[in-house]
Amino acid sequence: MTAIADQPTGLRQAQEIADQVFFPAAAAVDGSDRLPVSHLDLLAERGFYALAAPPHLSTLGLPDFASVCRVIETLASGCLTTTFVWAQHHNAVMAAANTQNEALKEEFLEPLAAGRRRSGLAIGAAVRPGPAAVRATAVDGGYLLDGDAPWVSGWGLVDTLYVAGRDADDTLVWALVDAVESGSLSVQPLALTAVNASSTVTVSFREHFVPASRISGTMPLEAWRQRDPATLRFNGSLALGVAARAIALTGSEELAKQLDTTRGFLDVSDPDTMPQARAAASHLALRACAALAVSEGSRAVLRGQHAQRLVREATFLLVFGSRPGIRSALTSALTP
Ligand SMILES: Cc1cc2nc3c(=O)[nH]c(=O)nc-3n(C[C@H](O)[C@H](O)[C@H](O)COP(=O)(O)OP(=O)(O)OC[C@H]3O[C@@H](n4cnc5c(N)ncnc54)[C@H](O)[C@@H]3O)c2cc1C
Repeated sequence: MTAIADQPTGLRQAQEIADQVFFPAAAAVDGSDRLPVSHLDLLAERGFYALAAPPHLSTLGLPDFASVCRVIETLASGCLTTTFVWAQHHNAVMAAANTQNEALKEEFLEPLAAGRRRSGLAIGAAVRPGPAAVRATAVDGGYLLDGDAPWVSGWGLVDTLYVAGRDADDTLVWALVDAVESGSLSVQPLALTAVNASSTVTVSFREHFVPASRISGTMPLEAWRQRDPATLRFNGSLALGVAARAIALTGSEELAKQLDTTRGFLDVSDPDTMPQARAAASHLALRACAALAVSEGSRAVLRGQHAQRLVREATFLLVFGSRPGIRSALTSALTP
């Protein structure tokens, strides 16, 4: 195992934040309606909003994608809610970095990478099978968005939303939208049994105008679907983080070995095996948190105890960021 002093800056700092700031506050965050903005400010101050930014904008010194994922796991082991909200940001950074819209890149990339601008994500409604729940219609000077994005986390903690709408020809239209309520953009808060402080809402667009200057790109839905399986690694680290905390609290050497094996499986998976690897990570989180509850006995169900919080968080990780292949692999694992 690498000594802490030899770890990349980003990983060392993630461990410090997780252990010294996030984990001590995790129970209080769990019981609140909105996580403290000071948590996100700290991540910005230490350069973590640049996790997915081009190297010249990052100070994290992470050598490869595996270490990027390890940062997510480490932060999630301290506070899943904070890490989850922050994790939604990186798609906007990548969009601003890769866009052909040079004016948008100029306006957004550096502020997003520095965390002066913070973004949420609203994509599922346009990309899932069946009719688009968020539609995009080309009009003079831009697009109109219509429909409901059922799950959007970080409302009130972000100033920008990275949104996908789908047009009548099944092309996805990607935009950076101001996260501000108006006559054409409204939100409905959702009460959650886990990560409630993520401030997750349903966002409704009603002929919401997005100027062309805010469009980061377009892509045929089918092309997006082909690429999607290769992008599923990232969220697996949220489950690894929850598992890691439960395992540390139980002290189980057997589960610690399984954590390493499960991380290894995620790290080497290709699009064909990734659903299995993601399912294995969610299943491990559930088992590790259940093992912690059993080892703690009745006090595990007292409010404020880590065990009951972690079990609820593991339940959330059974369904968040899922895909049909992940769901069927998990169903098989849970109903052998
Ligand atoms: C608490 C919570 C917070 C969430 N926050 C966000 C958020 O901030 N931004 C956000 O975009 N989503 C968010 N989600 C949505 C989440 O990504 C989807 O719920 C998840 O992908 C799985 O959807 P589902 O199982 O509910 O499937 P359903 O919504 O029932 O979807 C049906 C089908 O669509 C597929 N599908 C659903 N979402 C996607 C997707 N994103 N890409 C490809 N296929 C998809 C499913 O695999 C399934 O086959 C959140 C979900 C929860 C529970």
